[in-house]
Amino acid sequence: MNYNVENTIKWMKQHLNEANNVVAFLGIEMVLEGGGYSLLDNDETYRVEDEYGYSPEEMLTGAFYSAKREKFFQFYKKEIASMQVNPTATHDALKQLQDRGKLKAIINMNYHEIPKYMGLNNVINLHGSLNENHCTKCHKMFNSNYVIKSQGVPLCDECQSPIRPGLRLIDERINDAVLMRAVNVCERADLVLHLGYNFTEEEIKYKADRYVNQIKMAITQNPSGIHGKMDFMVQGEVKKILPQLI
Ligand SMILES: [Zn+2]
Repeated sequence: MNYNVENTIKWMKQHLNEANNVVAFLGIEMVLEGGGYSLLDNDETYRVEDEYGYSPEEMLTGAFYSAKREKFFQFYKKEIASMQVNPTATHDALKQLQDRGKLKAIINMNYHEIPKYMGLNNVINLHGSLNENHCTKCHKMFNSNYVIKSQGVPLCDECQSPIRPGLRLIDERINDAVLMRAVNVCERADLVLHLGYNFTEEEIKYKADRYVNQIKMAITQNPSGIHGKMDFMVQGEVKKILPQLI
C-alpha cells in the first residue's frame, strides 16, 4: 500500500466519522468477495451458453420467461437461486456503522439478502430479491427455497399458476416504489459509499451527479470510469478496506 492510498483511507475514515447519514450501495463485487460469481463474467457467459444454449442476458429477460419458462427456471434455479454467497467483513463493518447510528440505508444491487440476514436495517433491494417470488395470478409470495425445491416451473400452491421470480429481469424497469425509496434515502444522505460496484456511465450519472451536497466514496476493484466522479476512491477488495475506515 503506497502513501497516497494510506492518506486517502485516513481522509475517508475522518469523513465517515463526521457523517451522520450514510447510505451504502452494494455492488456485484460483494457477491464475488462472498464466494459467488458474476454471470456476466466472460468465462461464466461461455459456460452458461454451452450448457443452456442461451446467454445469461438472453435468459434473464421477461420475454424469455414468457416464451421458454421451463428453460428459464432450469437456469434460474441452478445458476442464480442456488448460488452460494457468504457474508464478509464488509457486512460486519456496515453493522458497526449502523450501531453507531451513522448508516441509515443500504441499496443492494444484488439478489441475495445477506445484508438483511446480517442484521442490517432499511435494505432496499433495487433489483428485487431471491425471496420476493410471487404468483402471477393471486400474488401470493414464495421464498427462494420453495422455488428451488419445485419440479420444473414452480407453481402457486393455492391456485396452481406459475410463479414469477422476485428479481427484476433485464428488460424490465426498476419498480417505481423501490426506486423512489432509493432516491429518497440518497437525497437525505450526507455521505454515500459505493462498495464493490462496476460503474457504468449511466449509473454514475444517476448516482453520483444527481446529489451534489454529499461526500461520495468508492471502494472497488474496477475503478475505470469513476475517476473524477468520486470525492474519494480506493481500488481494492471492499472486505479488506472498509473495516479500516470504521
Ligand atoms: Zn396463486
